[in-house]
Amino acid sequence: MQYKDNKLLYEQFRRKIEASAWILLLLIFLLESIIGIIWACNGWIIEGDDPLSYSVKYIVLPTLVNLIAVSLYHYTEYHTGISSSSKNALLIMTFTIMCLTIAVVHNAVRIASVSFVLPIFLSAIFADFKVTRKAFFLNSCCYLSCMLLSYALAQPQSRLFLILDMIAGAILMVAAYLITRSILQYEQKVRCRLISYNEEQALLIERLRMDALTMLYNHNAFYRILEDAIEQGKAHDQKPVLAMLDIDNFKTINDTYGHTCGDCVLRKLAAIMKEQEADNIISARYGGEEFCILFTDCSIKEAEQLMNILRQSFENLKIDEINGHQVTFSAGLAVYEEAFDSPTAMIDAADKALYEAKRNGKNRVIVSRADMYT
Ligand code: GH3
Ligand code: MG
Ligand code: MG
Repeated sequence: MQYKDNKLLYEQFRRKIEASAWILLLLIFLLESIIGIIWACNGWIIEGDDPLSYSVKYIVLPTLVNLIAVSLYHYTEYHTGISSSSKNALLIMTFTIMCLTIAVVHNAVRIASVSFVLPIFLSAIFADFKVTRKAFFLNSCCYLSCMLLSYALAQPQSRLFLILDMIAGAILMVAAYLITRSILQYEQKVRCRLISYNEEQALLIERLRMDALTMLYNHNAFYRILEDAIEQGKAHDQKPVLAMLDIDNFKTINDTYGHTCGDCVLRKLAAIMKEQEADNIISARYGGEEFCILFTDCSIKEAEQLMNILRQSFENLKIDEINGHQVTFSAGLAVYEEAFDSPTAMIDAADKALYEAKRNGKNRVIVSRADMYT
């Protein structure tokens, strides 16, 4: 999911940066044209160049090279299915070609060679140390080649200054690389913080759905789960079954052994309920010593059998905290019916069956019947 998000983000930004490449291309063209006009007007065109060959060499050719580079990139971005990382690399290379054109054509303007820092800074957008390293290597090679070309073409007396320029430019290239690396490290830290913040948020949201004592779903969360199950049941023609459980004589346990021991009993019951949980069996603490279980994709008979197994396991439990005192629970079961198709109606129906279980002597499971409503 995150990888897909990154791909989309890169695509969005590559297209924005491509627009900058077109603007840069236009600016270079305008600048070269203005310089050409000034040169021509002042009669500064040298090397035996006539205005036409000057225009071809300093305006038409570089503009053509830049135009081909940016158009090729544009075609690849919009009309080919090559990988996102290859497109990222190609965008950096397009800028490198533009810088190379400026540096080669205008090798007399030595500062032009420093434009090779641009692709290095640009690589920061892709948040990948490997990409930045490659951009640095590629642009350093281009910078060095341009400088060697300038050196070869320079007058012997100006070579010393050229060497100084070369060193200053190289320092700027290294500085650009180091700054870009720092930007990436900073970005990585921010991303890590964001991820852990999101994880904390998710954990907090999950905790809000749980009951702190038993770590079962709490009342609110269960209500929503039941609501969803009813909707799903309607859509797939399934009838969810709801069980309401109430520990028998729990007040006596609290009064005899204390509330902390009472809490242990609640946790023990929750633990065996959890053991029984499956994809189609969800347990929750309704409140106090009352619990509920939702059975989806399960017949009422199967749910009743499972409830009786749970009831016997709980009854047979030896709870040390209350000196092995046996504890039981009573339960009422209600299956989804057209007549009670809301969570509240199902809870009421299961409750009625639960109270009948209490009235009939406790420690039993009773299924809701129509006559309980009359
Ligand atoms: P019955 O068999 O009819 O259900 O009787 P009972 O004693 O279980 O029911 P009653 O409603 O009289 O008492 C429930 C008790 O549960 C009262 C309350 O103090 C206790 N209780 C509710 N929540 C907690 C809890 O979180 N921890 C402890 N230890 N006790 C709790
Ligand atoms: Mg109760
Ligand atoms: Mg009780």
